[in-house]
Amino acid sequence: MCVADLVHRYSLVQERLEAACLAAGRKRSEVTLVAVSKLHTAEAVAAVAAVGQIDFGENYVQEALQKREALRGSERISIRWHMIGHVQSRKAAQVAGTFALIHSMDSRRLADGMERRLAVEEKRQPVLIEVNVGAEPQKSGVLVQDLPALAEHLCMACPHLELRGLMCLPPVFDAGEAARPYFAQLRQLRDDLRVRLNLSLPELSMGMSGDFEAAVAEGATMVRIGTDIFGPRPHRAV
Ligand SMILES: *Cc1c(COP(=O)(O)O)cnc(C)c1O
Repeated sequence: MCVADLVHRYSLVQERLEAACLAAGRKRSEVTLVAVSKLHTAEAVAAVAAVGQIDFGENYVQEALQKREALRGSERISIRWHMIGHVQSRKAAQVAGTFALIHSMDSRRLADGMERRLAVEEKRQPVLIEVNVGAEPQKSGVLVQDLPALAEHLCMACPHLELRGLMCLPPVFDAGEAARPYFAQLRQLRDDLRVRLNLSLPELSMGMSGDFEAAVAEGATMVRIGTDIFGPRPHRAV
C-alpha cells in the first residue's frame, strides 16, 4: 500500500475512534490506539509513525525484534512497542524488559522466566494478563477460573513484573456488538481483581478492527487495530 493510502486509512480509524469515545461519553485521551503491524513492513510502520502514531503492536517475537532494529535510530519517529501475541515461555528472557507493555502474560512459567531475567538486569516490565474469555482450547490466555491465582503469583513472586490490567480476544471475530458481552466480562474481572489485590489495574486492552467501538463503550483503555490501518495481512511464512 502506498503511503498516502496508509495515512488516509489511519486518519479514518482516528475519526472512528473519536466518534466511539464521544458516543461512550469518554475522553479520547482515555483510549490508546495500538497500531498492530504484524506481518507488515518496517516501511509501513515508519509511514504511520511519521504522522504521529506512537504505539505499535507485534505478535511474533522474532519479527518484532527485527522490525524494531530496522527502525532504531530513524529520525523524527519515536515508537513504543507492545507485544500482543502469545509468548512461549522459552522466549521469556528475549522479551523481558524490552517492550513498553506485554499484553499476553498467560502462565506462571512465562512469568517466572521473565522475572529471573528482569532480576538479573534490574529492569521492570509492565504486563497485562491475557484472559481466554471464551474458554476456547485453541486460544492462549488464562481461563477465567485461573486468573486470580496467576495475578496473585505475579504480585507475590514477581516483583519485577508490574501488573497493569487485562487483555482479551473475544471468541467472536469481527462481530461488532456481538463481542460486547465479552468486553463487559473482562471489565468485571478487572474490577473484581482490583478489590482482591488492592491494585489499580488501570488498563483494559480490548477491541480490534471489527469491534473496537463496542470495546470503547465497555471501558477499553487500549484498542489494538491492524487491518483497518494497514490493510489485509500477507500470510505468514513458516
Ligand atoms: C492481529 C491482532 C489484532 C489486530 O486485528 P485486526 O482485526 O487486524 O485489527 C489485535 N489483537 C491481537 C492479539 C492480534 O493478534
